[in-house]
Amino acid sequence: MSKKNKKFSTKSIHKGQAPEKLYGAVSLPIYLTSTFRQKEFGEYEYDYSRAGNPTRTNLETNIASLEEGKEAIAFSSGMAAISSVIHLLSSGDEVIFTRNVYGGTYRIMENIYNKFSIKSHWVDSTDLDVLKRKINSNTKMVFIETPTNPMMEICDIKEISRICKHSKCMLVVDNTFMSPYNQRPLTLGADIVMHSITKYLNGHSDVIGGILIAKKQKIIDELRFIQMSIGSVPSPFDCWITQRSLKTLSVRMKQHNKNAYKIAHFLESFDKIKSIFYPGLVNHPNYDIAKKQQLDPNGDSVFGGMISIDLGSLSKAKKFVKNLKIFTLAESLGGVESLVCHPASMTHASIPKNVRVKLGITDGLLRLSVGIEDANDLIVDLTTALNKI
Ligand SMILES: *Cc1c(COP(=O)(O)O)cnc(C)c1O
Repeated sequence: MSKKNKKFSTKSIHKGQAPEKLYGAVSLPIYLTSTFRQKEFGEYEYDYSRAGNPTRTNLETNIASLEEGKEAIAFSSGMAAISSVIHLLSSGDEVIFTRNVYGGTYRIMENIYNKFSIKSHWVDSTDLDVLKRKINSNTKMVFIETPTNPMMEICDIKEISRICKHSKCMLVVDNTFMSPYNQRPLTLGADIVMHSITKYLNGHSDVIGGILIAKKQKIIDELRFIQMSIGSVPSPFDCWITQRSLKTLSVRMKQHNKNAYKIAHFLESFDKIKSIFYPGLVNHPNYDIAKKQQLDPNGDSVFGGMISIDLGSLSKAKKFVKNLKIFTLAESLGGVESLVCHPASMTHASIPKNVRVKLGITDGLLRLSVGIEDANDLIVDLTTALNKI
């Protein structure tokens, strides 16, 4: 395959996937090996699987091309990827985060990295003035998530990357909620893109994994060194499974986008829902940014598969969930099957209640991860359960 100008869905199937050399196997073998023969002292392509493995390289090559980066580094989990990003910093450095990031990101900063004197600030990163004011001479990194989890707020990646360049700090974007099909932050000026592979990239709820993608060789080399030193590597089997899933990323994302769009517009008028949070609704406060920033590979606006709804109270949320038949109560998101999650008691339980409520994560809030089942079946499931509360 020539290197240039292949479209997204072609790349997701072929990049890093040239048929294997020995027998021409179209589906590549899994290199289940910890070590490799060296031709001479120090003469090798791979030496030890913590440092590198061909199955991992195939996956990294593929995802790097989808995010339009130079290289990617795959990890054993999304949190391992985030920890490795933080290891780019030194004690005394400060990081500014989107205030309602993934609960695990909050937990690791406030309970682990604070002990190493890496200070985190939590800001409303949809407000560029607030963000600018927080930057000081110790700020080395801005770490944003967009859309945010679970409130679906949208930050303007391009504008934030301008602010970061001006202040000489690195911009990291957690792109897990969008996948590279829906949003490619490196093309908007970000320095590092992070994914929990566990979600849309793998998409079948059977792998825990993470990945970082960057353009600058210096950042890539540093991150590879950090990973090799810490050892947070994915297994060859998990890399292979993820690679297999990526081949259908385009068709899956199209369906997630379409289903969620239809469901959000249907739920919008339902009076049992106190509030609905979905960036594809025109009255969403950040609709305009979502529309210009979240583009599929053809350049059409897309809004993802995640919807949050507030039913007003814990008892109503409980009753609603009990009556769902297709949506399964579970953590995680981005799989082919529809899931429902109660952030206050599940994903965001480690955030103190007063902080949580300030963010909008009330006891009546539910997050829907819309799968790729038939949209009308999902609507019937939601309607039936809503009518019971
Ligand atoms: C799940 C998730 C993570 C953490 O990833 P793991 O694979 O669970 O370690 C980080 N960020 C976001 C947005 C996530 O949804």
